[in-house]
Amino acid sequence: MSSIRYNAVNNLGNHPLPVQVDNASKITGIFNENVFTLITARKYLSDDAYKSLLASTRGGKKIDRVMGNQIANGLRAWAESKGVTHFTHWFQPLTGLSAEKHDSFFTLKGDGTPIEEFEGAALIQQEPDASSFPNGGLRATFEARGYTAWDPSSPAFIMEIGDGKTLCIPTIFVSYTGESLDTKTPLLKALVALDKAAVDVCQYFDKNISKVSATLGWEQEYFVVDAGLANARPDLLLTGRTVFGHAPAKGQQLDDHYFGAIPERIYAFMLDFERESYKLGIPIRTRHNEVAPCQFECAPIFEETNLAVDHNTLLMDVMLRVAKRHNLMVLLHEKPFAGINGSGKHNNWSMSTDTGVNLLAPGKTPKTNLMFLTFFVNTIKAVHDYAGVIRASIASAGNDHRLGANEAPPAIISIFIGKYLTDVLNQIEKRVSGNFDEQDEAILKLDIHKSIPELMLDNTDRNRTSPFAFTGNKFEFRAVGSSANCAVPMTTLNTVMAETLKNFKIEVDTLIEKGEKKEVALLQIIRKYIVESKKVLFEGDGYSEEWAAEAELRGLENVKTTPLALDGYVSDKAKKLFETNNIYTHGELEARHEIMLEEYIKKVQIEARVMGDLASTLILPAAVKYQNILLQNINGLKEAGISKEGYANQLQIVQKLSEHINSISDKTELMIDARKKANELSNSKLKAIAYCDDVKGNYFDDIRYHVDKLELMVDDSLWLLPKYREILFLR
Ligand code: ADP
Ligand code: MG
Repeated sequence: MSSIRYNAVNNLGNHPLPVQVDNASKITGIFNENVFTLITARKYLSDDAYKSLLASTRGGKKIDRVMGNQIANGLRAWAESKGVTHFTHWFQPLTGLSAEKHDSFFTLKGDGTPIEEFEGAALIQQEPDASSFPNGGLRATFEARGYTAWDPSSPAFIMEIGDGKTLCIPTIFVSYTGESLDTKTPLLKALVALDKAAVDVCQYFDKNISKVSATLGWEQEYFVVDAGLANARPDLLLTGRTVFGHAPAKGQQLDDHYFGAIPERIYAFMLDFERESYKLGIPIRTRHNEVAPCQFECAPIFEETNLAVDHNTLLMDVMLRVAKRHNLMVLLHEKPFAGINGSGKHNNWSMSTDTGVNLLAPGKTPKTNLMFLTFFVNTIKAVHDYAGVIRASIASAGNDHRLGANEAPPAIISIFIGKYLTDVLNQIEKRVSGNFDEQDEAILKLDIHKSIPELMLDNTDRNRTSPFAFTGNKFEFRAVGSSANCAVPMTTLNTVMAETLKNFKIEVDTLIEKGEKKEVALLQIIRKYIVESKKVLFEGDGYSEEWAAEAELRGLENVKTTPLALDGYVSDKAKKLFETNNIYTHGELEARHEIMLEEYIKKVQIEARVMGDLASTLILPAAVKYQNILLQNINGLKEAGISKEGYANQLQIVQKLSEHINSISDKTELMIDARKKANELSNSKLKAIAYCDDVKGNYFDDIRYHVDKLELMVDDSLWLLPKYREILFLR
C-alpha cells in the first residue's frame, strides 16, 4: 500500500529526534527582545520624540508630522540593528487572523540613488489593497478603499519568519469614510467608553482614580497533530475539522491524557513557540494537557485588554507557523474531532484602576466592599440586560459544535457566582431598606475578601459548566471559541459594562440629589439591580436538560445556532447600545452582521462540498473495492461447491455495504440539491438558516453516520483517510 495515509503512518516511526530548541537563556533574557517597548524607545528616540510617543501611548494624544518622522527613524534604526529589511502595517480584519503587506525600507531617490528610509507618514498611515477584505457592503457604498492607521497603544514588534524579519506596526483598519473594517477599532472605542463610565463610578469611592483599564487573561485551547497525517485529511486542511471519522476504541474515558506527561515531540514544539512568544512580549505562564487526547492549553499573565487581544492573535499565528518546523499541525477549530471535547478560549476579565485596585477583587473595609459590590452587581446586570448581544459576540460555525453540546457551556447565557456571594446578594435584597442602618453596615463589614478566595479554591464551588463565572477576583467568560478573535467578545462585554455603569451613576445621583446619603443611594441601586437581574444567576449543572427547561421558564434565551444568534447584534436594543456608546453606527452593525452571516454560509458550504468530495472519491471507492473482494470470495466459494451457509456472512456484509453505499450516495445527492436551493436565496440570513437547517441539519450527521459505519467494516488497508486512532494517539 502506498496511500498517503500509509505513508504518513510509516513516516511517524522515521521522525528524527524532536527539533532542538535553544532553551539555554532565561526567559527574562529574551522577553520583549523583538518589541519596541518604551524602554527600547527611550534608547532610540530624542527626548521630544519619546515624550510624544509616551503621550500617545498612554493618553491617545495625536503625533504630529515632525515627531512622526523622528519616531519612524528611531524604529527603523532599532529594527535594522536586528537585521530587519521590511515593515508592514499589521491589522486584524473581520475574518481570518491577521493581515499584513510588506514594504521594504529600501527605495530609490529621484536620481536613482538607493537608500533605506522609513518616513513618519508610512508609519502613521498606509493603504493596503483592501478590496479582498470583507466589508459587508460598507465599501460598496463608499469609496472602495480603506486605510490602516497606527495604534501606538500596542507596541511595534519584529516578526521572524525563517531568516526573514519584518517590523510590524499594529494598526486599525478603517474605510475612507471612517467605518471600521477590523476588530480592533471598535474594541479601542469600547475600552474608552468603559474607562469613562468606570472612572465616573469610582469617584464615589476614591477621587484619585483617573483611569480604569479592562484586563484580559485568555486561556487558549488547541489540538496538535502530526502534519503528515493531517495532510492526508483534506477535511482538516480545508475546514479545520474532520467531517468523518469513527471514534477510536479508546477516547478520553480514562482521563489519562489530562494527567499524563506532555509527549516529547509536543514538548519541543511548546518550548519553541513559547520562546518565540516571549521574544514578542507575550507573557505565557501556563502550559498543560487538556481533557482530550492531543489537546493542550496555554495561558499568559493577564494584561490590559488591547495588548492581550493583540498577543492572542499573535500567539495563534506563531503557533501555526512554529508547528510546521516540527512537522506538526495546530488545530484551532472549536471541534476538530467528533465525540471528544472541543476547544474553547476562556476570557478572564476584570477592571483595574490607575491606583492599582482590581475592581472585582472583594474589599477589606466597608468602603472597598461597597466598591466591589458595585462593580460586581453592575456586571451581573450588564450580562442580564444584554445577554443577546453577548451571545451574538461568540457565535460562529465552529462554536455551534461546542455550545450546548454537553461539554462546553450551554448557549444559554447565565452567571455563576458561588454559594457565598449568592448569600451576600440575598441578604442585600432582604435587608437593605430605605434607611442606612446597622443591617446595611453589617453587610458592608462582611469579610467578603477573606471568604471568597477560600471558597473559590474549593473545587465544588468552581462550576465548570457555566458560560460566565466569577472566580474570586475576575469573571471568566468561558463560552468564547478557541479560534475567536478576543476583540469581538471583549468589545461587547466592555460596552455593555460601560452602558450599565453609566445608568447606574444616573440612578445613584438621582437619589443623592433627592437627599439620600451616598452609601444608602449606592446600596439602594445595588439592591434594585440584584432584583432586576437575579434570574441570570445559576449555580447548578449547566449541561443538564433540567437547566434548559428552567431557563425557559425564567425567560432566558437559548439560541443554539449562529444564524439566529447573530440577530443579537442587530436588535433595536443592540443598535441603541452600540450607537450611544459610539462603538458602531447602525451601518457598521448591519455590515458586521452581514459579514458574519456570509462567513457562516461559506464555512458550512465548504464543509458540505468537502463531505461530498470525500464521499465520492475516497469513501465510496474504498467500500466498492472491498465489496468486490468479498464478491470474488463468494464466487470462488460457490465455484468450489460450498453451500450457501458457507458464505452467508460474506453475503450479509456485502448487503450491509450496499445499504451504506446507497445511503451515502443518495444523501449526498440530496445534500447537493439542498445546497443549490440555499444558494438561490439572496437574503443572507435566510440563506444562512437554509445552510444551517437544510444542508447541515438534514444531512451532515446522517451522511457521517454511514461513512463512519463503513470505516468499521472496510478492509483497513483500503481505507484512505487517516483514522482517529492514528491522528490522536500516534506520536
Ligand atoms: P485558573 O482559572 O486555571 O484557576 P487563574 O485563576 O490563575 O487560573 O487565572 C486564569 C487566568 O486568569 C490567567 O490567564 C490569569 O492571567 C487571568 N487573570 C487573573 N487575574 C486576572 C484579572 N484581574 N483580570 C483578567 N485576567 C486575570
Ligand atoms: Mg480557567
